[in-house]
Amino acid sequence: MSEKIAILGDGCASLSFAAKAGSLADYEITVIKPTGAPKSKDHAWGFWSDDVLKDAEDIARYSWNKWAIVTEQDCAVMSSESKKYHSFKRFDWIENRRGLAINNGVEFKNQSEVNLEDFSHVFDSRPPEVPDGAVLQHFYGIEVEASKDVFDPSTVLLMDFRVDQQNGMHFVYVLPYSKRKALIESTLFSEKVCDESYYANSISEYLKAYFKLEDYKITHREKGVIPLGNLFPHDPDIAGMGANAGATRPASGYAFLFIQRQIRDALHRVQKGSKLDFRDPHTRIDRWMDSMLLAVLKHWPEYGPSLFFRMGKSLNGDQFVKFMSGDAGFWIKAKVILSMPKKPFIKVLTNPKLRKIKKSRTAIA
Ligand SMILES: Cc1cc2nc3c(=O)[nH]c(=O)nc-3n(C[C@H](O)[C@H](O)[C@H](O)COP(=O)(O)OP(=O)(O)OC[C@H]3O[C@@H](n4cnc5c(N)ncnc54)[C@H](O)[C@@H]3O)c2cc1C
Repeated sequence: MSEKIAILGDGCASLSFAAKAGSLADYEITVIKPTGAPKSKDHAWGFWSDDVLKDAEDIARYSWNKWAIVTEQDCAVMSSESKKYHSFKRFDWIENRRGLAINNGVEFKNQSEVNLEDFSHVFDSRPPEVPDGAVLQHFYGIEVEASKDVFDPSTVLLMDFRVDQQNGMHFVYVLPYSKRKALIESTLFSEKVCDESYYANSISEYLKAYFKLEDYKITHREKGVIPLGNLFPHDPDIAGMGANAGATRPASGYAFLFIQRQIRDALHRVQKGSKLDFRDPHTRIDRWMDSMLLAVLKHWPEYGPSLFFRMGKSLNGDQFVKFMSGDAGFWIKAKVILSMPKKPFIKVLTNPKLRKIKKSRTAIA
């Protein structure tokens, strides 16, 4: 007899998993839209090539093989022929996976229509809760159409730090879709989200200063908050999946790759006869290194620009992608550690209080 599985949540992890229902002959899967879920919004998502992301590459709208980290003083440009950076829309992925899930017999229900006790296993993909004092990655972005050629479509500006640094580590992220079209996001790492006008003004000043651009049409707006560091399960009594099972990379906020790996590994274990579960896709050493980095950025955000620039200078494109993807071996990790400013890291290493997060929890909408 097949086992009845319920997935609470119908976001990235839930639908990425449901799309694979065809490889789980012994399970009947129901995806449940949770009570209280906010209206889902479209966003541009970025990721680097990986074996587990071939399907995503197929629906990516744009791809680049060069990216840069820019500071007031300098610029680190990295490139890779085999590991491109891709961008697609969240809704493209969600709808693609929903279609596959339906074809594979997955049921879709509202939480009010089901009794969770009727299922043999329930997995919770609602967002994790966030400890007080956690560092948040918060951003606001616009897609623009300029009236003249201004963008360089060959190179993603992954982090351009030439913006105000008074409210925490702040950079602009530019995805140049063409010479005239781009996504421009103002992104901060700090404990407090800013007023929308702060990001919007930062973007318009940035476009004016570095692209001589004042005349453009805004075709789309997006904003978001990604809590960083080690988070709490949404409900400690329900097994998690996706971000709610630790998939978000603690110091970068990238989660898409790690969600797909988490699902791939869960399916491998089932095929070998183990029960279905979703595990933390990050190694302990990556979590530890990320916690050190986040502590430095929280207490001394002014080190942010030089720290990321040095990292970019010390690695080539392929090494950088390995580091971001959790695939870095000893040599790449050593290069990153040796490139870092020593003083703040010694402080957080020798004072565990600086890395501590409070136990109380605050939900982030
Ligand atoms: C704006 C934004 C941009 C991102 N960009 C990238 C990127 O470029 N690259 C990358 O790798 N990662 C990115 N991420 C991180 C990551 O890929 C996503 O957070 C990913 O969606 C996590 O998948 P998930 O299934 O765990 O959670 P989600 O996709 O968020 O799904 C959560 C589910 O819980 C439901 N839910 C949410 N809140 C509640 C609530 N309060 N009560 C009940 N139900 C609730 C939702 O409706 C949904 O069904 C981004 C995240 C955000 C927010």
